[in-house]
Amino acid sequence: MRKSTGSLALAAAIFLVPSHTPAQEPVHWEVVDDIRAEGFDNSQVMESAGYLADVIGPRFTGSPNMRQAQEWAMARMTEFGLSGVEKEPWGDETVGWEIQRVSVHMTAPDYQMVIAYPLALTPGTGAPVVTNAVIATIQTPEDLDQYRGLLDGAVVLSTPPMSMGPRFVQDAFRHDEESLGVFETEGVDLLIRRHARGQLEQSTFRREGISAAEVEAFYKAEGVAVVLAASIGSDGTVYATGHATTRSDRTRAGVENALPTLAVATEHYNRIYRILERGLPVTMDVEVRVGFDESDPSGYNVIAEIPGTDLADEVVMIGAHLDSWHTGTGATDNASGVSVVLEAMRILEAIGVRPRRTIRVALWSQEEMGLVGSRGYIRHHFGEDGVYTPDHDTFSVYFNMDNGTGQFRGVHTQGNAQATPILKAWMAPFQDLKVETISQFSNRGTDHLAFNQVGLPGFQFVQDRIDYRARTHHFNMDVYDKLLPRDLMINSVVMASFAYHAAMREGTFPRPRPQE
Ligand SMILES: [Zn+2]
Repeated sequence: MRKSTGSLALAAAIFLVPSHTPAQEPVHWEVVDDIRAEGFDNSQVMESAGYLADVIGPRFTGSPNMRQAQEWAMARMTEFGLSGVEKEPWGDETVGWEIQRVSVHMTAPDYQMVIAYPLALTPGTGAPVVTNAVIATIQTPEDLDQYRGLLDGAVVLSTPPMSMGPRFVQDAFRHDEESLGVFETEGVDLLIRRHARGQLEQSTFRREGISAAEVEAFYKAEGVAVVLAASIGSDGTVYATGHATTRSDRTRAGVENALPTLAVATEHYNRIYRILERGLPVTMDVEVRVGFDESDPSGYNVIAEIPGTDLADEVVMIGAHLDSWHTGTGATDNASGVSVVLEAMRILEAIGVRPRRTIRVALWSQEEMGLVGSRGYIRHHFGEDGVYTPDHDTFSVYFNMDNGTGQFRGVHTQGNAQATPILKAWMAPFQDLKVETISQFSNRGTDHLAFNQVGLPGFQFVQDRIDYRARTHHFNMDVYDKLLPRDLMINSVVMASFAYHAAMREGTFPRPRPQE
């Protein structure tokens, strides 16, 4: 009897859980099985990615392509059976701008077609410009004088040549035990630290004491026709984002007030530069045609949802940015993310889930200009600067995808330690797919950060980098061929499962500590 009582007391002690220890986070294995079956057997993720990248093409924010992509996304969401499909305005869009034709050639002392792309929000050249090329590399204010009176009507080479040679490193990487371990312990992305962009060490030209705007004003005053800059990258890969001066004035007037500026494939730029350094003349033929779309000054995010049941007022979100830079087709940045979140919603709808909370998907615009679309959405729905709406209280968690085509390997916790046991539990069904890492790294470059900045939990997954840094991210070779179908299927399945578990758990997701 006593012995028996003692055993009971011991048993009670073992199962007596201190009240501050969270209960084990439940995993709905039977729903995971359905998600996996639907996601791997009936996937439409590549169909979405292919249409976006190949048929629609690059989606510079506010451009006709971006508008077309938004209409396509709404049709796709409707086709998948989602509710509340809409284009939701978030504020003032940048001027609609698109490239209509680019043609760059060296015509003397030898003919060569030159690989080059206008920076975004560059004006056109009007007619083709056939003129001499001149080196006018301005690094400090003292450099201005030597070029006065020499640049009228010229195509200028505005940066030094870049070091270039055969590459002895691979472009594409998956994470290994070591790099995942360093995410867990030090919160450092070892692959980026080791390989940077995966290229040779390339010169990074920095101006001192003179701004890009001052240099452009000088070029304009001197009558420069076109500005060329060497691009990072190699083997015909060109990196092109925004024009330095129209970044801050994204109106049609701002664009038309700037100079046509192009990023040139390094090998081609270097050849022209070396010929000029020999004192020999170079003639170039450059034409840039751009179009403006001022049909609608508003910017939009595309939204859809699966309505919740008993906790329908509480919201779980997943999302990705739909806009892209303009030279590739925005395949890994970020048709991949868009296709994954659409596919996650399709899977959940197809298997007929009835989530407690509402699951909402957002396809953001103007991410590439500084998370502008997601910030606008958050301002309208959740408030800002510490003044928050009731929807801020009932919001649960946001999951983002925006780091290329690589499969998920874990989640970056963004400094939110309370998230760790929850995320670990939700990853448990995907250990066979090697989705296991809790990363102490704070991934900062994309839309989940807009949630963190208003004190809401938002996460970006650890992804295999593949050749994102070397070849695709903001490069002209960000194209469909760089997508890995199985990786995107894995991500769709994990995204669907995370959204479902967030919608079903006891209580909204723990809040992160406030961040700036
Ligand atoms: Zn992106």
